[in-house]
Amino acid sequence: MRKLLIKEVAAKGIKDQRVLEAMMNLPRHYFFDDIFVTHAYEDKAFPIGQGQTISQPYTVAFQTEQLEIKPGDKILEIGTGSGYQAAILLELGADVYTIEYNKVLYEKTKIFLPQLGYKPRFFHGDGSKGLPDFAPYDGIIVTAGAPSLPQDLVKQLKVGGKLIIPVGNNKTQVMYRLTKVAENKISKKAFNNFSFVPLRGEKGWK
Ligand code: SAM
Repeated sequence: MRKLLIKEVAAKGIKDQRVLEAMMNLPRHYFFDDIFVTHAYEDKAFPIGQGQTISQPYTVAFQTEQLEIKPGDKILEIGTGSGYQAAILLELGADVYTIEYNKVLYEKTKIFLPQLGYKPRFFHGDGSKGLPDFAPYDGIIVTAGAPSLPQDLVKQLKVGGKLIIPVGNNKTQVMYRLTKVAENKISKKAFNNFSFVPLRGEKGWK
């Protein structure tokens, strides 16, 4: 079932073989309660409790591909959720910092993910302002829909670093990739529409 899902994701336009391999290596059903495992290999987001979701596999693949991760890259993920996206980033050899706003999900994933052998650095708090104490990052991935482009996040990128973030209303968002081409210069690319749960916090939806 996982092979078929990866084929489906590739057919939707994901070309980076390393991203597809990472998704092949990571059983997505581990992130589902037993009674829901039959949904694990559908290309759909799924509820994980607390009103939140594990992102759609295509979305995970798309955002990951856009980061163009090299082993050793320092990546900040905003919105730990189930930990699936963080595990994919670790599969690609990234040094992962992940921040979650919801205390229950933070506590749950901080225990669960290391049991699978994935050990990012976990933080609880408002990631809409990034994680300045550990900046700068080679990449920042935001896995919740932001109302606008948070300048704090751009500041926390290294030169050459990339921010991948969905921006829009609380139903649908345009995916943006911002690249910090020089200290005061950003290049911006817009992609298709996606649908994420809202980014909360000071620079998110209050
Ligand atoms: N990356 C997750 C995964 O692989 O399961 C999917 C995350 S879900 C679509 C979005 C997550 O962002 C939720 O867990 C939500 O609580 C979290 N979130 C929302 N606003 C946040 C904020 N300001 N800082 C950190 N996390 C936030």
